[in-house]
Parts: sequence; C-alpha cells; structure tokens
Amino acid sequence: MSEAADGTGGGAAGGASAGAAGGTGAGRRVGEGTRAVRAGLPEPVKHEPTLPGPVFAAHFHLPGEPTGPYTYGRDENPTWTHLERAIGELEAPGRDGVETLVFASGMAAISSVLFSQLRAGDAVVLPSDGYQVLPLVRAQLEAYGIEVRTAPTGGDAQLDVLDGAKLLWIETPSNPGLDVCDVRRLAAAAHARGALVAVDNTLATPLGQRPLELGADFSVASGTKQLTGHGDILLGYVAGRDTEAMAAVRRWRKIVGAIPGPMEAWLAHRSIATLQLRVERQNAGALAVAEALRAWHEDLGVRYPGLLSDPSHKTASQQMHGFGCVVSFTLPTRARADRFLDALRLVDDATSFGGVRSTAERRGRWGGDAVPEGFIRLSVGAEDPQDLVADVLRALHESAR
Ligand SMILES: *Cc1c(COP(=O)(O)O)cnc(C)c1O
Repeated sequence: MSEAADGTGGGAAGGASAGAAGGTGAGRRVGEGTRAVRAGLPEPVKHEPTLPGPVFAAHFHLPGEPTGPYTYGRDENPTWTHLERAIGELEAPGRDGVETLVFASGMAAISSVLFSQLRAGDAVVLPSDGYQVLPLVRAQLEAYGIEVRTAPTGGDAQLDVLDGAKLLWIETPSNPGLDVCDVRRLAAAAHARGALVAVDNTLATPLGQRPLELGADFSVASGTKQLTGHGDILLGYVAGRDTEAMAAVRRWRKIVGAIPGPMEAWLAHRSIATLQLRVERQNAGALAVAEALRAWHEDLGVRYPGLLSDPSHKTASQQMHGFGCVVSFTLPTRARADRFLDALRLVDDATSFGGVRSTAERRGRWGGDAVPEGFIRLSVGAEDPQDLVADVLRALHESAR
C-alpha cells in the first residue's frame, strides 16, 4: 500500500507542461516523457542521425575573422550545444532567456558559479549539511577573503544568516540527510536583500524540481547522478536566467577549462532520453523501500521526502514533482551497518547515487558528513521494486543476527 499518491510524487506529477522549443516543437504542450525523449534534438536533416554523434574537435576550420559559434574546443562544441539545449528544455520548459552551460563535473559547475560571482569582501551562505565537498570549497573561498556563513537546510534556517550576503546557495533535498527547504520563500528573502540564489538540483533532477520556476537565479547540478543514471560518466551543468551572471560563469569555464569531453556529452544526451522512465521507476522503488524500512520493527529513522510522515514531505510536495531515488536510514551500530551492506545481493556497496543499479553505503566511512556511524544512504535503481524490498528486508534480518 502506497503512502503517497504515486511514486513520482505530489505536485504536478506527470502533468503536461509547456513544450520547449526545438526538440518537442515550439509552443506545443507535451508530457515529461515526451519532452525527455526529444530534448535538445536538432531539426531533422535527411541522411543525418536523429541525435548527431559526438564531434571530436580541438579546433574548427576558421578562415578570416575568428567569429563563433565554433572556434576552439575549450569554448564551444556542437555536441555540448545539443546537450545544453536538452537540459535547458528540462530545467525551464517553454521559457526563453535561460542559458545552460555544461561542465566536466558537478563540482566544476558549482565552483564556476561560486568563484565567478563572489569577490573578496563578499559574504555567501552555504548549507551546513550539503554535499561533502562544500567544506573544501568553503576553505578555498575563505582563503580568497570571502565570508562564508552556513546554516542547516531544514526549517529554512539559512534565512537567519542572509543579511548582507551576495549569494545564497541552497541544496534541497540535501545530500545525504534529505532535508528540504522552501525554495520560493528563501529566494524571495534573498532577492529582497539583493542576493543571488543558486539551487543544487542534483538529487531531484529537473523532472523532480525546477528551481528557476521557484525563483532561483541558477539551477546547478551534477549530471553524474540520476540525470545520466548509469554510473559511467561525470558531468555538471549550470542553467541560469541572468545574462550577465551567466556570462561570468561561461568565462569561468573558459578560464579553468572545466569542460566535458564530447563523448561524455553525447552519452549524457543519449541517457536523458530515458530520464523520465528511469526517474518514474526509481522513485517508485525508493518509496516502496522507504515504506518497507519504516514498517520494520526497529526504528531506523528512515528519511524519504515522499513518505507522508517525513518532516520534509509538506514542503517537498509544494515544490517537487517527484521525490528522488535516495532513501536514508540509520542502523544502531557501525558493525550492524557493515553486516547489512554485506548481506545485500541486489545492491552494490558503492558511493554516489542515481544509477539504474542500486547502490548503498555507510556514509560515515568518508568522514565529513555529520551522520551517525550506522547511517546508510541507499540509492534505488531500476530493478523491480519488490525484488529490492525483499533483498533489503532479508539483509536487515541477516544483519540482526
Ligand atoms: C555528487 C554531487 C555533487 C558533485 O558532483 P560531481 O559530478 O561528483 O562533481 C554536487 N552536489 C551534490 C548534491 C551531489 O550529490
């Protein structure tokens, strides 16, 4: 029995929305599956493939004046152009004036926003419970004379430290704690104080949440996770609606050269065609696993924003179209958690999340996240949900012995 209406979440789940230009035909309203399948496709050309193959070029023929679009391979590449259009159509369907830039990794995208927007003497607000590399970024920002303030994601606590900040960085749902904050409320408060707003949209994917529609200036994500979903490439992107700010992000990409290879960009685009299928299946599986864990006789402190009983559920259902594929819970001890992971047969003990093959790990093994020793982050793949539930319950039994 399902607690939430369906695995893909509340809000406008599955609803049609404005069709994007290009791949889905300008102005037509189509469903999310259709949009994902056609995202970023160029106009058909006789004898050409539907999705043109990767363009491997360090430089392009360029006689005369060096005008764009394609001059040198660190600045632009036609394979990125198709992928950037695809992601833009998903992050901001039917909206003009949104620019998307792809990067070599999620961290390249995140750093490009932070380091292009902030100057010595500025203040930035980061989440205290966000992605585990943020503390390293914090140290680097501070070394450049930027004031870094942090507050937890839950309870919209970042509101309390906003005064005088230049940029607010939101991560919702947060990884790995799965707390959620109210993006509309935080964005309005930040804008009232003249601050820009960026949302890390990695966990939700653009099908689960569209930060630009909720008021953010940047939607930033790691495409390494569910966006591409096969655990075989690293990728990142920034989508933004402020032309000047995006020009600075583009300049940063050029300066640091944090560019994706054409092969990775093409694989990512190919993978996006199945995004809606994967998200629907994985989110439904995550809800099934979360419910099974919650029904277990020990209190495992299960967190999943799709559970009606979850502290994040109310806010999540106001701004998300799906609740993600990550479930977290806490086993009583580190040894129990290790036995549980060992006993799983369908779930690989590996880091990262969002892939079609389920993974889980004891998050505390890395240090850095403020989580208990027995804390498990489980990423639900595209296996049959009943098989995963059975595997998880069997591993819980076996590890209890
Ligand atoms: C993985 C992740 C990142 C970093 O992405 P990479 O592609 O590994 O560089 C950033 N934010 C969140 C929320 C992540 O899960």
